[in-house]
Amino acid sequence: MPRSNRPRGRRREEPEALDLARATAGFKRTEVKRDGDWYVQPQRADSAVKAYTCPACGLEIGAGVAHVVAWRADGILGDADALAARRHWHTHCWRIRP
Ligand SMILES: [Zn+2]
Repeated sequence: MPRSNRPRGRRREEPEALDLARATAGFKRTEVKRDGDWYVQPQRADSAVKAYTCPACGLEIGAGVAHVVAWRADGILGDADALAARRHWHTHCWRIRP
């Protein structure tokens, strides 16, 4: 069996990996939405130092409010441009996004 020392991905089925992901909230994950695949990175309250406008509801996400950052995982422009176009969403607004 080939071994990998890469810290990300591919080991979701292992209980250790699940515990690690839970322990390190702020871990990037991939979610499938109706319009494609997205990278989603939870932002903890203590690391949310700026206010943002949520693209779903148009309301402010205040500094110190836990939320999620999302950008396209299947962007035709490439990961760098997709990351540059990332948006900050209320956790709830992202969760209910189709
Ligand atoms: Zn919102």
